[in-house]
Amino acid sequence: MKAELPEIRDAASVEVSTPRVQYRVLLVDAHSSGVNQIIEELQQHSPGEFIVTRAASLASALSLFVAQEFEVALVSLNLPDSSGVDSIARLRFAAPRVPIVVLGDDNEEAMAIEVLQRGAQDYLYKGRAHGYVLARVLHFAVERQRTEDELRRAQDLLEQRVMERTAFLKVTNRRLREEISERARTELVLRKERDFSAAILDTVGALVLALDRSGIIVRCNRCFEKTTGYLESELVGRTPWEIFLEPELIKETREVFSSLVKKIDGYRHENMVRTKSGGHRLIDWSNTVLTDSQGEVEFVIATGIDITDRRQAEELQHQRMIELAHISRLSTMGQMATEIAHELNQPLCAIASYGDTCLRMYDSQQCSPDEVRRVLNEITSQAERASEVIRRVRKFVRKEEGDKAPVSINELISDVVRLTQVEARWNQVKLVTHLAEGIPPIVVDKILIEQVIMNLVRNAIEAMAGAKSARREVTISTRMLPDDTLEVVVDDTGPGIPKDGPETLFQPFFTTKPTGMGMGLSLSRSIAEAHGGDLSAESNPDAGARFKLTLPAQREEKRNAARSHRIRRR
Ligand code: ADP
Repeated sequence: MKAELPEIRDAASVEVSTPRVQYRVLLVDAHSSGVNQIIEELQQHSPGEFIVTRAASLASALSLFVAQEFEVALVSLNLPDSSGVDSIARLRFAAPRVPIVVLGDDNEEAMAIEVLQRGAQDYLYKGRAHGYVLARVLHFAVERQRTEDELRRAQDLLEQRVMERTAFLKVTNRRLREEISERARTELVLRKERDFSAAILDTVGALVLALDRSGIIVRCNRCFEKTTGYLESELVGRTPWEIFLEPELIKETREVFSSLVKKIDGYRHENMVRTKSGGHRLIDWSNTVLTDSQGEVEFVIATGIDITDRRQAEELQHQRMIELAHISRLSTMGQMATEIAHELNQPLCAIASYGDTCLRMYDSQQCSPDEVRRVLNEITSQAERASEVIRRVRKFVRKEEGDKAPVSINELISDVVRLTQVEARWNQVKLVTHLAEGIPPIVVDKILIEQVIMNLVRNAIEAMAGAKSARREVTISTRMLPDDTLEVVVDDTGPGIPKDGPETLFQPFFTTKPTGMGMGLSLSRSIAEAHGGDLSAESNPDAGARFKLTLPAQREEKRNAARSHRIRRR
């Protein structure tokens, strides 16, 4: 059935039938007859599918492109205002998204190729532009264009994504590079820091030993290697007790170590280290622990000072001090010889006179046995008195290795008073004691401390020997200070401290006595200091001089408590 043709006007739309999927076609052709034919063909083949708008010239087509939208353009190359393939370029320029199908008068391949090269979608020879072909070509042109558009969009999207991804990768890359150089910088700083710490560790003059919490050596420094003769490589992975400790010290050192790992007391201790060559060094260790983030001990760092030489020097010095003290005691006795001789003389005279009496009684044959017994008893007691004097003198001058032992200071002072009593009497000096009760025994070298007090008392007596003061008294008092220090004060009523101040008196060889050595006070202060105490002098508030000897004294219960807490600490 042949459809009735609608009237076609230039630039007017003709709807071919009820639309399904409709394509708006711009038909650019100057010849009405040809146009009608095409519309007819389309109408017949695909009724209502194509809405055809006609433009009779290129100018009209261009202005329609501006005003309306088309899915496809069907263009004849014979236009009044343009000819040939130029029309294609201008139309594509005006509407690049609208596919162009060229309707040609020639059925030539070359023309078709040129048209396609100029941007047309297809070339259709007018002579073959029948309904089916025409509709198919238009369909294909539109669909191809859509596909192309979609492809382009997808490509654009892809390009966009690639660009975004590239930009993101560039940023990531830059950050990565920055991070790498930051890490390199940090590593450099860390390496420098490590080298610096290692240099410090190796240049310090102290032995440094690092152990893990099971006692395995993990590091030691150069000083440790030098002192012990072991190389770090020989020590790492082993324990101190298997390498450089004598068997008898192992238990004690392990106790110190376990107390460290439990973070309890015992951070300082001394022990003897056996060197690789078999020698021994005495080390004063100061220990610290390094804990992890949970507060658990991870490492024990032992820092030690080699005190072998210092200890030997100290011992030598102590030995010298004891020897000097002995000489000083002999000298004291030498100075007291007259008084001692006098004190001995009394019982000897008494013995002689009792012996004489006894003889006379025997000669007269008139004595009763009781009377002879009484006289003989007297002789015995006088002989004991004389031997007591000799015993005291011998005890005082005997040379003893200075071992420290608990001593009652009040008893010691009483001994000194007994020894110096004769000298005091000779100089009309009264010896007075104020000895506090409840003073705990102090751990000292008895002979040396006795000598200090003896020096102070004799100096006090001698200071008053030449003085004309009416009150001639030496008072020896003891008391405990609140900080567990024992104080012994010797006061006299003599001329007092010289103008130069008390320190002059303690200088070695300072003496104002014609036969003095000037060593008594200097030696006494050394003895006090060797016991952890002190000896000082000051002017007595009343008159004369006051000498104060202080010695650390711990009460027995405190000493026991401290001992049980301590694991051989200094
Ligand atoms: P020495 O008794 O051999 O002189 P010391 O070191 O014991 O040596 O005493 C040094 C000096 O200190 C004495 O010569 C004396 O001048 C002075 N001195 C010591 N004790 C007293 C005192 N109690 N009062 C005044 N001067 C004293």
